[in-house]
Amino acid sequence: MRLNGYERIENRGLVGRAQMVESDHDVALEDTDRIHGRTALVNNVKAASSLAGAIRSTLGPKGLDKMLVDGDGSALVTNDGVTVLEKANVEHPTARLLIDASSSQDRAARDGTTTTVLLVAEMLQNALELVRMGVHPSIIVNGYSIALEESIKETEKVSRESDEEQKSQVVRTSLQGKGDSSVCGLIAGLAVEAADGLVDLEGGDDLERMVVKRLQIREGNVMDSSLVNGLMLLKSRVDATSPENSDGGVVAIIDGGLEHAKLETDASIEVSSLGIMQEFHERSRENMQKQVTHLSSLGVDLLVVRDGIDDEAISLMTKAGIVAYRRFERSDMDLLSRITGARPARSVSALGDEDLGTYSKRGEERISDVKHTLIEGDGGGMTLVVRGSSPAVREEAIRIFDDAIGVAHRLNSRPGVLPGGGAIQSHLARHLRSFSQTLSGREQLAIEAYASALESIPRILAENAGRDPVEVILSLSADQRESGAWIGFDLQSGKNCDMGEMGVLDTEFVVKHALSGATEAAIGVLRIDDVLWARTDPSTPDWEGEEEI
Ligand code: ADP
Ligand code: MG
Repeated sequence: MRLNGYERIENRGLVGRAQMVESDHDVALEDTDRIHGRTALVNNVKAASSLAGAIRSTLGPKGLDKMLVDGDGSALVTNDGVTVLEKANVEHPTARLLIDASSSQDRAARDGTTTTVLLVAEMLQNALELVRMGVHPSIIVNGYSIALEESIKETEKVSRESDEEQKSQVVRTSLQGKGDSSVCGLIAGLAVEAADGLVDLEGGDDLERMVVKRLQIREGNVMDSSLVNGLMLLKSRVDATSPENSDGGVVAIIDGGLEHAKLETDASIEVSSLGIMQEFHERSRENMQKQVTHLSSLGVDLLVVRDGIDDEAISLMTKAGIVAYRRFERSDMDLLSRITGARPARSVSALGDEDLGTYSKRGEERISDVKHTLIEGDGGGMTLVVRGSSPAVREEAIRIFDDAIGVAHRLNSRPGVLPGGGAIQSHLARHLRSFSQTLSGREQLAIEAYASALESIPRILAENAGRDPVEVILSLSADQRESGAWIGFDLQSGKNCDMGEMGVLDTEFVVKHALSGATEAAIGVLRIDDVLWARTDPSTPDWEGEEEI
């Protein structure tokens, strides 16, 4: 496997060459490299394991950071599994399947990305052991599906509903290791507040992206970042002589401009007399006046347009008491539309009563020497104002906020929480082992293999904290047997304790999604029996190093 551009020094040997498997029917596949059967599985498991190896040490609050150096030498330091994987240009198709599982976890749950990849790799590694013992992959696939179903049922039994205080604890746990802890604490609070503002709105999980604008202010301290109600943007009204503030009124949004029709560059008008030119200007002035009169007749006192506004129109509008803004970005227009209920119209003449919206407040303020405008309304819609003198600090804060609001928003509709610190996985492993006793046949072995794969989470958390993983797993399991599933390994104190009391909580949907995403990916790989690789792309990696199978 190649981590293109981010070649891992200790893993240089990973690029492998598969021996062509010669057999009669390969004649038909002349231009195709082919590996199949157990060799394919060994190769695929190897790829998955080396990918997991690349992010293993980032798991948990004590996980270490990775520095990703780009071709041009620019560096990004991150602790986030999915960022590492998405930036590394991985070519191996199986590794890509794992990265897709991790990206899908990120999109759907905004957390648990490292966990997902680690679980797939462990599930595959354990499956390979069974294959070597003579268990057919289809039996393992079956066993893994049963184990998943049983695990999901059991997590629902362990899960508790989070209260208001636990909500910020869950969000804070999900941010562990993603940045400076005081910044994470502040942002977790802002995210919970923002998510609470989304509760009554329609739009599902996408709301968090659409309803909260992220605005960067190139000054101040990141700890002074805040959340404001309404749309805030770096812009001032087109006419400084028009009123700076307003206590509300009627707003119209134009998805176009208020400009004279421009002449094409290659068009020419033959001006035979001065009169024609004058008449031309007269007409466009009249037209402009007509548009402003139309706006006034609709009662509009705030106009926002996507394109430009001619000087002539500016003075006409100020006279008519209309405050105007131009060159609005589409995302700002959309948010304003949501806040005020105004529907963007193609042009002023196409504007009707039904397109108008209302705002409750508008004001301009000088921040770090540039004018910013804030428009408020009743339709929801907020702006996260991120301060900080360096772009890296501001961008990191925004990344943290994106994850935090993702978790906080989903938590409002799915409030179940589970014990973190490897507790839920350790409990599930034990539960699956006793559950497997009720089954007969070889699936039992597969379910036990699945249980051990789940235990890799507390094991790796312990490893990353410099503790003896075997000791931690044994003591965790013993303590859970005595005191229940909520006992976990707290990395801060290094002791097993009640995760509910410690506030180390994972959300139920993150845990469930990681389990099902990882199982699906592992099953997908186990079903592969044959890899056919077209020999057309010269950059196609060579596969080599067949392990003894
Ligand atoms: P992922 O990308 O999978 O979310 P993280 O690096 O965020 O990976 O680590 C998440 C894991 O760390 C979860 O299993 C969570 O329960 C655990 N964790 C977070 N905080 C603590 C803590 N204080 N003690 C023990 N485990 C913790
Ligand atoms: Mg996390």
